[in-house]
Amino acid sequence: MEKLRIAIQKSGRLSEKSLELLKEAGITLNNGSRKLRSVARFFPLEVIYLRDDDIPQYVEDGVAHIGIVGENEFAEKGCDVELIERLGYSRCRLSIAVPKAEVYNGLEDLQNKRIATSYPVILEKYLAEHGIRADVHVLSGSVELAPSIGIAEAIFDIVSSGSTLISNGLKEVETIMQSEAVVIANRNLDGEQKSLVADLLFRIRSVMAASNNKYILLNAPNENLEQIIKVIPGMKSPTVMPLAGEGWSSVHSVLSEKTFWSVIDRLKELGAQGILVIPIEKMIV
Ligand code: ATP
Ligand code: MG
Repeated sequence: MEKLRIAIQKSGRLSEKSLELLKEAGITLNNGSRKLRSVARFFPLEVIYLRDDDIPQYVEDGVAHIGIVGENEFAEKGCDVELIERLGYSRCRLSIAVPKAEVYNGLEDLQNKRIATSYPVILEKYLAEHGIRADVHVLSGSVELAPSIGIAEAIFDIVSSGSTLISNGLKEVETIMQSEAVVIANRNLDGEQKSLVADLLFRIRSVMAASNNKYILLNAPNENLEQIIKVIPGMKSPTVMPLAGEGWSSVHSVLSEKTFWSVIDRLKELGAQGILVIPIEKMIV
């Protein structure tokens, strides 16, 4: 049987989470340690480990059928591949920053300035759209040093907490794009490859849904049962079972992480007791 070939980052900010996601999706890799490639057990999949910069091109060329890469690299490389899933980890943004002491009133201030970046394509496109002409200076790393060593007046780089900017005396002035890990796919997969991709995505989505949801059990006073059910609708509707003690029911449901705390507060107001919240390992969506 043919194997699906997936490219993931060899080492860096994407690799650990990507391997963990595959593991949670039930894909055990033959060698724990990073080689250049490894073969999965129980699923026809082969992993190849690459620098993240190379992943979009390898997927476009079909050397890898799919790949996990930062949306920023996907946008920068402009390869003809399809974005098939957002994975929600390795979130960051791409921003323009200038020295902290600099007065900044807007993009116009960047007119004819030198901007250092590892993402010239994304930056040039944005500047062109906004009618700014700047001198884009491409650096492959340590971009945040550029203003202090006098090779640029501004930088355009990845920001997550912003602490790197602060420690280099810079301030973020424009956010140009948000990024997260994404799955990209070659556009010319055959039927069998597409069906393997669908199987893998199904597993990945089940893992993601599970981590975004919790199983909740509680005891509800019957007089507020209807209102409590409205607060926790669950996947279809909650399971309700009578308790041995009169006037109370046990309610089981699924809660989204996003609304979690506000729902818990509302449940307490409605007299719910003995609330248990349990992680879900897999959720078949
Ligand atoms: P490679 O050696 O593979 O080229 P790299 O140094 O280019 O690695 P990393 O720093 O490992 O890349 O970052 C990989 C991806 O992780 C980035 O393209 C971005 O999408 C995301 N990322 C980068 N920095 C952060 C951060 N601080 N927080 C979260 N995600 C980040
Ligand atoms: Mg890289």
